[in-house]
Amino acid sequence: MIEAVGLVKTFGDFTAVRGVSLHVPEGQILALLGHNGAGKTTTTRMLAAILAPTEGYARIAGYDTVTQALEVRRIIGHLTELPGLYNRMRVVEYLDFFGELQGVPKKLRQERIEEMLQRFDLWETRRLRIGEYSKGMRQKTALIRALIHNPKVLFLDEPTSAMDPHSAKMVRDAIAELKQAKHSIILCTHNLYEAEALADNIAIIRKGQIVIEGTSEELKRKLLGVPLYRVQLNCSLETGLPSRLAEMVEVVEQGERSFTFRTEQAEQNNHRVLSLLAEANLEVTTLSEVPRSLESVYLKIAGQPQDNEVNRDEMEQSLKKQRSRAKKSHNFSAAADASDAGEDLAAIAEVSEQEEVQKKGALK
Ligand code: ATP
Repeated sequence: MIEAVGLVKTFGDFTAVRGVSLHVPEGQILALLGHNGAGKTTTTRMLAAILAPTEGYARIAGYDTVTQALEVRRIIGHLTELPGLYNRMRVVEYLDFFGELQGVPKKLRQERIEEMLQRFDLWETRRLRIGEYSKGMRQKTALIRALIHNPKVLFLDEPTSAMDPHSAKMVRDAIAELKQAKHSIILCTHNLYEAEALADNIAIIRKGQIVIEGTSEELKRKLLGVPLYRVQLNCSLETGLPSRLAEMVEVVEQGERSFTFRTEQAEQNNHRVLSLLAEANLEVTTLSEVPRSLESVYLKIAGQPQDNEVNRDEMEQSLKKQRSRAKKSHNFSAAADASDAGEDLAAIAEVSEQEEVQKKGALK
């Protein structure tokens, strides 16, 4: 449903995304994890037909994101990190406006708006203007906007970052339901619990490249090795463990009433361990896998040496060139905004990139 091959994105001389390939089948969620500036948002913007890739291509439900950008935008929902909301509008008006733009018939969009405002606890406050909403309420509004046309494909950038735990759970439940209903989702998040709870696959991006991808269990196994198991007994181990145990598994730690072991073949060995302990009259209370967190995986990746660190000088040079290009093309307002801060400089590239996508779309 979502397919990208060798996506590269350069902003002037700076390469933000370096050959990202990914595949998300129908009804699956891929979580993109990575440090600030790793390239997650840039990747999703290319997938959402907002930015044209410098190299590579992406297809959403078979539509090319450059030559069929309009078709792509019709079938996706995109929750951006910093959604532009119209502060003077009331939420119902705002959602109705976007629902109409997405071609949702009036009656259906009224029903969907009410249903979603109820679901995300915004019904009571629907008469406030969006500018009067809190951060979390604004984020929920942006999420509803992304969902209003019931898109088959969703790109969700930090969907719960501003939310209280109750609201975040509500949104996670909604995402899980969308998966059940066969929607395909890319979720960019710094919340590792969220990634683990929701995603079928997790990809970690570093400096614009996917460095590892797989299920949470696969990543743990690859980076943290085989799992450990802990046995809790309801009797003392003062006479020691049965000697044959060492032939089956590697005991890594022994306490007064417990021990921990490692085995490559848990399915075959764990029940043999239990039988052996029973034969030795050592009564077992629990045998369980020692929990390992996705955080340990993430930190292990993060702790690896960084060979091609983002070079701020390289980026500054590139931004200067973009500013000068924008001035030359009489895009003074973008250039003026850009002179304020690095973040605003992005506007120049965005303006020209959006033009580029539109031009390519028009050439179709
Ligand atoms: P975060 O977790 O902070 O949201 P991210 O992984 O989403 O980070 P991106 O927003 O994709 O990161 O940015 C990747 C790199 O590309 C950053 O160094 C950023 O400064 C740069 N970048 C993004 N957009 C532009 C732009 N329009 N012009 C110039 N550089 C850009």
